[in-house]
Amino acid sequence: MFLCYLSLMKLSVFFLMLLTLTVTAQKPLVGKTMGPLPFLEYGLGDDRLGGAKMSFLDTNIVIKVVDSMKDDYKVHLSNYHYGWLAKTSFQRDDTIHIQPYYLTSSWKVFGDDKYDYVTVSLDDRLPYRSLQQINPSRIVVDVFGVTSNTNWITQLSTVKEIKNAYYEQIEDDVFRIIIELKHPQHWGYFIYYDDKKLVIRVKRQPEKLSVQNLLVAIDAGHGGSNNGATGASSGILEKDYTLKIANEVKKYFGAKKVKSFMTRTSDTNLTMIDRMLMLRQQAPDILVSMHLNSAESDTVRGVSTYYRYIGFRPLSQAILKRMQELKLKEWGNVGAFNFGLSGPTEYPNCLVEVGFLSNKEDEKKILNPKFRKQVAQKIYLGVEDWLKSLK
Ligand SMILES: [Zn+2]
Repeated sequence: MFLCYLSLMKLSVFFLMLLTLTVTAQKPLVGKTMGPLPFLEYGLGDDRLGGAKMSFLDTNIVIKVVDSMKDDYKVHLSNYHYGWLAKTSFQRDDTIHIQPYYLTSSWKVFGDDKYDYVTVSLDDRLPYRSLQQINPSRIVVDVFGVTSNTNWITQLSTVKEIKNAYYEQIEDDVFRIIIELKHPQHWGYFIYYDDKKLVIRVKRQPEKLSVQNLLVAIDAGHGGSNNGATGASSGILEKDYTLKIANEVKKYFGAKKVKSFMTRTSDTNLTMIDRMLMLRQQAPDILVSMHLNSAESDTVRGVSTYYRYIGFRPLSQAILKRMQELKLKEWGNVGAFNFGLSGPTEYPNCLVEVGFLSNKEDEKKILNPKFRKQVAQKIYLGVEDWLKSLK
């Protein structure tokens, strides 16, 4: 009898626990993205540049948290997709009621005097990710947790860069927007919400493909308390020499009558977020970021260029090819790179690691003012070659 009573107690405790668990499971942590430049990561992987990014997101996007690990929340995107969001980019909001399903509605595809647009009406501001495809050139945007009720896509002849826009419901709750471009080269795009309407703003290829027709952003890596690498024998700081090189690039482009601006012109502290927000405001046509490399082994040397999105690769290849004319060893052209300024999708961008400060041969070159002028010329020629290769 006593034993039976005990097991009954155990059973009721078990059911009580189960009930608590069910209640907790029914009330997930819900909120919105917030702050400057929130982004999703694929997983918990990490290196010195952070984990692999899935997408930058707009603010006030509905976020359903399912788990927590150190500084990140695990976010439910759809039945089969999860992402990770920094806790600092999340604002709890208990007034949000997660709906059993969300639907898309009609689209509009049009242009104004500057850009082409695809707008997609949605039930709420939901998370998304995007990718660039080449051959043929397309922008692909996946919207998570949403199912198609799109039966109307209005397309106006004011578009100049968008060839076609259509969708595919790739999973029950993953809606794929496909935007075909007229030109093989990607000039960038920007995804944001206008109220509950998802907007994909597409940059057009300039009508005149000359460097003089572009606004060029020049970024000098590091600065202020962020010294970067140190010269192997001279002890020079990367932040000082990226600025010297960036100044030469600015001068050279100016002499060629190209409009340009620099992210910093003195030894100031500037975070990646500061730089990205400044760039977003200035809306350059292309970005070149100047850095100097470093390795543990002092025999490692050479020049390298970096990109993240495949559609932006050609610019980095053209610059690398010209840089090698300076008798720098080819260290390589690196893709899928997680560097902050490789992240924006708005304009083609290229990170240039001129040489290794940890290698005496490369360091000697970098210390030479004549060499730094030559770097500026090669970057200009690289941009020019890239434009010539476009149709
Ligand atoms: Zn650097």
